[in-house]
Amino acid sequence: MSERRAVVIGASVAGLLAARVLADSFDRVVLVERDDSPGTGWRRGAPQSRHLHGLMERGRQIMEELYPGLTGQLAAAGAPTTEVLRESRWYLSGLRVHPASTGLTTLLASRPMLEGAIRERTVRLPGVHLLTGRTATGLVTAEHEAPAGAAGGGRPGRITGVRLALPTAGQGRTGPVDPDSGGEDVLRADLVVDATGRASRAPDWLVALGHERPAEERVDVDLGYASRTYRRRPGHLDGDLAVVVSTMPGWRGGGAITLEGDRWHVTLAGMLGDHPPTDHAGFEAFAATLPVSDVHDIVRDAEPLDDPVPHRFRGSLRRRYDRIAAPPAGFAVLGDAVSSFNPLYAQGMTVAAQQALVLRDRLRADGADGLDPARFHREVAAVVDVAWQMSTGSDLRYPGVVGPRTPRSRLVSAYAARAQVAAHRDPAVARTFMRVANLTLPPTALLAPPTLLRVLRSGAHPAPTRGDRSDV
Ligand SMILES: Cc1cc2nc3c(=O)[nH]c(=O)nc-3n(C[C@H](O)[C@H](O)[C@H](O)COP(=O)(O)OP(=O)(O)OC[C@H]3O[C@@H](n4cnc5c(N)ncnc54)[C@H](O)[C@@H]3O)c2cc1C
Repeated sequence: MSERRAVVIGASVAGLLAARVLADSFDRVVLVERDDSPGTGWRRGAPQSRHLHGLMERGRQIMEELYPGLTGQLAAAGAPTTEVLRESRWYLSGLRVHPASTGLTTLLASRPMLEGAIRERTVRLPGVHLLTGRTATGLVTAEHEAPAGAAGGGRPGRITGVRLALPTAGQGRTGPVDPDSGGEDVLRADLVVDATGRASRAPDWLVALGHERPAEERVDVDLGYASRTYRRRPGHLDGDLAVVVSTMPGWRGGGAITLEGDRWHVTLAGMLGDHPPTDHAGFEAFAATLPVSDVHDIVRDAEPLDDPVPHRFRGSLRRRYDRIAAPPAGFAVLGDAVSSFNPLYAQGMTVAAQQALVLRDRLRADGADGLDPARFHREVAAVVDVAWQMSTGSDLRYPGVVGPRTPRSRLVSAYAARAQVAAHRDPAVARTFMRVANLTLPPTALLAPPTLLRVLRSGAHPAPTRGDRSDV
């Protein structure tokens, strides 16, 4: 029997989690990554890593299931852990969420530390090979060089491999390398997984082979981030480990979380073009305009360890592979390549983890040779739906946000605004709200009768303490 091989394009969080589950079903899993050497610090292929990255509880649980002991491993390596809402302050619309007990864990590892740990555990698995410094440039079909369907006039064929640009001078490989791949520009595969992130070229690659392009949905928020790290002193925030201040149009926000190595990671954020500056004085002045003073208190007092770096996020983007009439066999897409969410809701890594479980369960049901692409993408879409409705539903509350509004989304937005006020006053609502936000409970939990009553009784939003400062 010939060796069964999967190729994953992109070795960031989604690609690594995909490789982890594929290793259970395939003899060989080759991860193709454009970055030369992912290393343990910031890297070019994942520029978002320089900005605050919260891991939601559902994501942590799944990673713990896939890599037993991961939380303890990261804690032992210096990542602070605490309970959500304990030793951490959450402000929504300028109101502090009640510091209730939630039973949810916050793992405050930096994004490079988290990614580095799952990479190290993934490439250690038997049969997994990481090929670095190689860029995928296209897909191939059974017909290989000729566009599928062109030769025989039939339906576009099964995806059977990946084209790689030949390595340029200076590009190298690190980690265990697939011995079959040297010098070739086509990597054969029984299953190709695209995990190349938001800028995925897979839609073009599919069209070039005669397949249908997935439709796209967008909700534009024009969000700007600027981030910087600082030396942490124990007295900051009275010893608390994290503060998160929600960002909305007209309300600047951001957060500060403690990282391994006694550092603060501070991110400032503004929507609809109101972006934080990256010069020292401008960064501090922007922090002073948040509706609460906690982040500014740190920025004013702590020693900066680097310069602020910007990131612009234009909007949430979803590719509807689930709506392609005849999706190609041998091909699956996950992570930001299928759904890229407004990062303010910190959903991306958790949804990638949920999608990895879909892949695992589909492979268990269909077998490595028979993954049903239509069913896979429908199940991925069901996972995306929940997070998408939560985050875009919240964003669409604001008139400047561009995207499709429905009567249902208007109702959900109005209710969510009221639930935020209730979460400030009522520990039971705070607990449910945080569990929903952490994707451990479905949003319908906020509509269960006792919670519904508490939310409806909570009243409207009171005047914020520091007011809308974004015009300062
Ligand atoms: C500013 C910002 C803040 C965020 N904050 C959070 C947060 O707080 N919490 C959270 O859960 N999520 C957050 N996210 C989302 C999170 O970063 C992603 O969801 C997560 O990284 C999973 O993405 P991915 O692995 O699909 O893609 P990416 O992380 O974008 O990785 C894609 C990988 O593919 C490689 N690649 C690309 N093209 C090719 C090619 N042709 N050939 C080979 N390799 C290729 C890249 O080098 C890269 O390694 C944030 C995102 C942004 C932009």
